[in-house]
Amino acid sequence: MDGCRICGSAAADSVPLWDGRQYCRRCVGGVSPALLAAALSGAPLEETIERNAVRAGRYFWAVGRYVVGFSAIFGIPMSVAVIAGQMPLTAMLVFLAIFGGGPLLLLSIVVPLAAWARRRQLPRTVSIHDGMVRIARPQGSVTVPLAKCRWSAGALANDEWSIYTGTKPAVLLQLPDEQVACGFSADSRERWLSFFALADVPHTRASGCLAWLAWCIAGLTGGTLVGAIAGSIVWLITGNQLWMFGLGVMGAIEGAIACLLYGTCATTEHPEAARKRLKPLYLGLAFAVLALKFRMGGGLVGATLLITINGALGVLLGYLCQRRIRLATSNEPGRRDVSHPASV
Ligand SMILES: [Zn+2]
Repeated sequence: MDGCRICGSAAADSVPLWDGRQYCRRCVGGVSPALLAAALSGAPLEETIERNAVRAGRYFWAVGRYVVGFSAIFGIPMSVAVIAGQMPLTAMLVFLAIFGGGPLLLLSIVVPLAAWARRRQLPRTVSIHDGMVRIARPQGSVTVPLAKCRWSAGALANDEWSIYTGTKPAVLLQLPDEQVACGFSADSRERWLSFFALADVPHTRASGCLAWLAWCIAGLTGGTLVGAIAGSIVWLITGNQLWMFGLGVMGAIEGAIACLLYGTCATTEHPEAARKRLKPLYLGLAFAVLALKFRMGGGLVGATLLITINGALGVLLGYLCQRRIRLATSNEPGRRDVSHPASV
């Protein structure tokens, strides 16, 4: 029998992992006791999305909230304008019926059909056995050598199934032609990540475009909404309606920056460099300068208040990014140091 792939020891109690190679119990248990238990049980390493995991309601919420957000961005300032007697109530209601009610009605027809079509493609089971990755679906199965696969972590937007099931795909297995999510629970995530680390499956950055775009859009929408609401309140207090526009634009810029930084800081290949770059003080200063650009009058008190609040938001963002990087680097077995002998 060959020795352990990691330490080379010819221990008689070695266990085969799902890549088809032998490992000693000490090396496997050292990285993850749960992985050792799973390997000893003889069960395959697998993850299944069941048919009943697809919920039309989740899909409706995933898409519908943007419609609601869009309506709110315009609806809230319009309500203020109606209250202030600047706009007829019927005009606001017609606008909301067309741009808010219409899309929601359409969604309520389309979503059940989409969910039904998705269920027909399930259950989907990803499994690894003897060095081969197999993806089984009702329409048929695909088998690819594990050696041709890579993995990435922390990509929430890359597996479209998460829109239908609400699961957060913690680990993405990237096959040559597609990527599949696995590791839906904390236990399962640990098994997959520990296995990838031990078996030396190449790690790659989550294929970025889609995730970047999703974070950007989420930030733009949320930021505009929060900025416009804050601006409407300041408008009511000061009587200067420019605030709603100014803070809305500032919210959009900061929302996009914040979501992009927070969303991608933990998936970068160089977490240490990212941690140095995203210091709370730097971000606080940058946000304070941005606030200086967007202040719409309000005198010294108004400007000081805006700069202070916005600077504090920057500091908070920096702190949250630091925390996210720290958690990602300390909890991810894939980044843990596993000593490897010269490859066989
Ligand atoms: Zn060993």
